[in-house]
Order: sequence, then C-alpha cells, then structure tokens
Amino acid sequence: MDLEISNPSPLLSKTDYISYLQCPKKLWLSKNRKDLKPAVDETQQAIFDQGFIVEKYAHKLALFKDPTQTAEVKDWYQKGQAETKNYIKDGYKTIFQANAMTNDLYCKADILHYNDQTNKWDLYEVKSSTEVKDEHLPDLCFQKIAFEMDGTPIDRTLLIHINNEYVRNGEIDSEKLLTIEDLTEQVENLRQITETNIPKALEIIKPANTEEVQIRIGKQCDNPFKCPFKDYCWANLPDYSIFDLQRITEKQLTALQNLNIQKIADIPDDFDLNEKQQNQVTATKTGEDMIDKESIKTTLEALEYPLYFLDYETFGSAIPLFDGLRPYQQMCFQYSLHIIRDKGAEPEHYEYLHTGTDMPVPHLLADMQKNIGDSGSVIVWHKSFEMGRNQEMALMYPEYAPFLNSVNHRVFDLKEIFSNQHYVSAGFKGSSSIKKVLPILAPHLSYDDLEDIHEGETTSLYWYKHIYSNSPLKDRMTKNMLEYCKLDTLAMVEIWRMLGGEV
Ligand code: SF4
Repeated sequence: MDLEISNPSPLLSKTDYISYLQCPKKLWLSKNRKDLKPAVDETQQAIFDQGFIVEKYAHKLALFKDPTQTAEVKDWYQKGQAETKNYIKDGYKTIFQANAMTNDLYCKADILHYNDQTNKWDLYEVKSSTEVKDEHLPDLCFQKIAFEMDGTPIDRTLLIHINNEYVRNGEIDSEKLLTIEDLTEQVENLRQITETNIPKALEIIKPANTEEVQIRIGKQCDNPFKCPFKDYCWANLPDYSIFDLQRITEKQLTALQNLNIQKIADIPDDFDLNEKQQNQVTATKTGEDMIDKESIKTTLEALEYPLYFLDYETFGSAIPLFDGLRPYQQMCFQYSLHIIRDKGAEPEHYEYLHTGTDMPVPHLLADMQKNIGDSGSVIVWHKSFEMGRNQEMALMYPEYAPFLNSVNHRVFDLKEIFSNQHYVSAGFKGSSSIKKVLPILAPHLSYDDLEDIHEGETTSLYWYKHIYSNSPLKDRMTKNMLEYCKLDTLAMVEIWRMLGGEV
C-alpha cells in the first residue's frame, strides 16, 4: 500500500469521506459548523430506522447464521477496534459492525466474513436500496483501505441490497428479500483515486484549517444526497432562481453562474434555452401568464361526464408490510374522490381511509368500486402514479382487474395542461406540481391551513406512525389525513373550473 497519510489529527470516517466526495465544503462544515446542521427530521429518521431493520435481516442470511461463529462489535473507536481484533483472534468467522482504525481513518463495516479459500476477509456493506448506486463503490473502497491499513486483509467487497422482485408470502425470507453483489473489481478500480482523495479530505479536517472551504452551490447540493447545509449555503439565493429553471443542465447552470446571474428574470435574451425553458423565462420577464386557451378548451371538451377526480395516498417500505407486496411497493391506504355527475352539478365527495391493521387494499377497492361507475373520465394529477397503482392492485386482486383496467382506460391527467405548457405562469416557478399550481389558479384553497400535514410525502409516514400503529394521536391524524386528501381532489376540481371546465 502506497498511501501516505501523516496527519495524526482528527479521524476521517467513512461518512466524512462520502461527504468530501459530494462537496469538500460539506465536509468542512460538518466538522466546524455543526450548529448549522438541522436536527434529523421524522422522514430522515424513518429512513435510518429502515436501514437498521434491513441490516437485521442481512444478519439472518444463512451465510452468517452460525451463532457459534458470529460476533457483534458493540463499541466504537479504540474500544471497537480492540473488540474486533479480539473476535478475529478468537476465530469468529462473521463479525457484525467490525471496526477499523488507523491514525487518520475510521470505519465500521456492516459485516466481515472470513473466507476460508483465500484466508482473507470478505467485507459486506448492507444498503436498503434496490440496486448498486455509484456512491456505494467509494464507500466500500474506503472501508477496504481502512481495514487493510489496520492489518486486516480484505479479499472481496460485496453489497447486500434489497431485491425488488421479492413478493412477501408469510414470514420475511432474508434469502429472497436480499441480493448480494460482488463489487470487488469495481471497488479495486477506485483504489488509486481513493488513495489520492483521502489525504485531500484529511487536509480539510485539520484543526488548523479554520478557513471555510469555498465551493459554489450547484447540482452537488442535492446529489447523491440532499445536503444538510443547504439552508446556509443557499440563504442568499433569490426565492425564484436559476435553480428553478425547468430541467436546467449542468452546462447552463455553470454558464449562468459565470455570468453572475441568479434570477430567472435576469437571464439574457440570447441565452441558449430549450422551448419550455424559454416560455418559463418569457412569462417571468413579462409578468404575464401564457395561456393557450384553444388547446385547453379542446382538451377539456374531450372529458366525459360523470367526472371523477381521484387521488390516492400510499405507503411503501423496504420490508413489505403485508403478503402480496414487493419492497417499496406503494400500497394504497386512502383515496379521495370528487364526482361531478353532469354539467353544472355541484361536486360530491367520497373517501376511504384504512384505519385497521390489516391489508388496506381490498377494503379500499371494495369502497371505490361502489363510487366509480363504468363510464366517465377519471381525472388525476400525474397519471403514471395512479395508473401504476391500479395495475399493481389489479394483479394482486384479479377480481377487481376489470374495474381497475376500466378506470385506467378513462384516466385524464390534468397536470399535463401545465407540464405541456398550455398554461405557463411565473408563479408556478417552473414546476407543474399541484402545490405550485393551486396558489396561482385557486388561491382561496390552501394546504397551509391544514394541521400537522403539509407535504404529500409525509402522509405515508403519518399513516404508519399514527393510524396503522394505533398511536394516541390516531383520531386526530385520521381527521387530518381525510382533510388533506380531500383537498387534493378539491384542488383538481377548482383548477379544472378555473381552466374553463363546465363552461
Ligand atoms: S449546500 Fe451545496 S455547496 Fe453547501 S456544503 Fe452542501 S453541497 Fe456544498
């Protein structure tokens, strides 16, 4: 090993190294400005908890299962390192949470497993993703280097991840739930660059290095992870900025930043934009909405009464909750439906929210089938989501397949009016999300007035934490969830009206 590391100051952990690769400033801030880092929120905590659960299932794999040969390191740093070395000396073949530590580097490996054929150790990393991601390779490479420097020879480096083809049937079967991929070669290919990067990262975390690292904000702030320092680094960015330009490329972003341009309104007229971007910029500069009334009218005239405005709320988890589900499959537990039976009629509202602890889908389908007839348009926002759920539910419950297929044949995606730019407003800020469109077209309706729930992605967590798990807040959350989902479909009704529906 020709890695030269002489700095005996603070340790560079695996997490630190991954931070460095995302952005050197992120690494510096994480060491020197911990005060800027927001507390872990409920959604992030749920992701961490899921990771721990997946790791526990990995421990149950037959490969690691012999209790006489398996040990788990409980400590950290020097104590964790000593514990690891003792288990190795005592002949254990599998060590969970093995620690490696040198003067500069530190890591915990999810699993070390002794390979009798090579007389070296295989290093396993457990991830709750459904595939190998680019960021997993440097993670493994860092660990391999740290263990080898600490005197533990590593042979293969492998990733254990979720198999998204797995379908739950009774007790969770670790052998089927998880997939093991041997990444030894790809990881070895990264050794040279990793050995070059580690001293650079160590330089940043030297205590003497008190100057904040200067890095321009960019796409790295959300890739591969949302950076926890965004509030700090992005504080001076205008509310509606070049980052809101639809599908902005790295090249465009760099060019605009080099011109010192932050606001959409300041983008030069001769700047190279695609058609949709150009429309967004024009609407922003003129302050006037661009509305293709003819296209909207033609599109809406194709709708057939009764009109069904439909929205689902779903829950997905790495470990499927019920039989018949795959990992991360989005299981519908709630729907909201507004029906306008005929031209000029007032909307009627129907809904279902599963409050029991059994599989929600058949209950939801039975209820929904009573309320959606076999003719009329089904209006959704972002059709691939609702149609995808309908296809999955049709496979799981074939008795509902004719109904769900009929619904899918009649789906109309209201969002497309905005994503296809028949209506462009600076107020949408380059987005066609209903949360951005609603305040412009129907400002009298607001998600802000709802208690506790403000974002669609957290509704699944609320359902799981409070309703499915019978928390003391169950009644309140049930009421809130019903209001939230009802607003989603009412918002579609109002947007449809504002676009000229019913006229
Ligand atoms: S917000 Fe962006 S620039 Fe700031 S530390 Fe994070 S990744 Fe780096």
